[in-house]
Amino acid sequence: DLSARSGLARRDEVGELARALDEMAGRLEERLRSEKELLANISHEIRTPLARLRVALELCEDSPGDAAQTLERLQGMGADLADLERLVDNVLTSARLDLASGGPAGLPLRPREVSLGRFFADTAARFDRHHPARFLELRLAPELPDAQFDPELVNRVCDNLLDNAVKYSPPDQPVRLDATLAEGGLRVEVSDFGEGVPEADLPRLFEPFFRSDRSRSRQTGGTGLGLTLCRRIIEAHGGRIAASPRPAKGMTFGFTLPLQSDRPEPS
Ligand code: ADP
Repeated sequence: DLSARSGLARRDEVGELARALDEMAGRLEERLRSEKELLANISHEIRTPLARLRVALELCEDSPGDAAQTLERLQGMGADLADLERLVDNVLTSARLDLASGGPAGLPLRPREVSLGRFFADTAARFDRHHPARFLELRLAPELPDAQFDPELVNRVCDNLLDNAVKYSPPDQPVRLDATLAEGGLRVEVSDFGEGVPEADLPRLFEPFFRSDRSRSRQTGGTGLGLTLCRRIIEAHGGRIAASPRPAKGMTFGFTLPLQSDRPEPS
């Protein structure tokens, strides 16, 4: 009786082991698949602006054009370089944070005292450099205080949200950044007047590699890592980030950063 029981227990354990192995294999397969997809996306992302840069260079060599044409070409090349920079930054940071596998529990923050007025002036200057043909409407609450956060990482969040706003809205439309104080924290909202995101895709926007179909069909480049990175950075600061469709047209991506002691200790 006893041996029959232990035989049963063993069968149970073997069954459990088989299930666990199965599950692990499934997860591994999924991971490999998403890494393959990521590699394919990244190489596409690199090739597209590189190909445009080559064409632009050849054009400059073959038909030098007047000053206005030269400026326009240089701006186009600047935008392609900015795309490449954003890609490299996002991929490197994502790799460091191991985003694909959920990442480490805490993100290494290097918080510093930041003057918010200066911080957003820098954001706007980067925007003008990267998107010389686009208009950023910067709306800052008066007398923003100094704040403690990791400026390099929060820069990354602002740049990603602004780059998306530019990428997913028509070129003649402005994008907007609002910064206010709300509930003891800093509230930042980036809005655009584009097509927005289909309702069904909203809950998935911050998942690694997720790209909404509508944007794919418009053939914009991207890896689907930017928003994942944004969320990790904001949550590491003890804040929250969310996407909401604007009532008329476009999207607002808003995040809140706690400015006082309710922030987790930097790790
Ligand atoms: P990527 O832009 O590289 O695809 P992100 O993680 O930054 O990756 O964004 C994920 C997806 O969210 C995008 O592919 C796009 O479908 C959607 N998205 C992000 N920002 C906007 C926006 N401002 N308007 C419409 N769709 C957006």
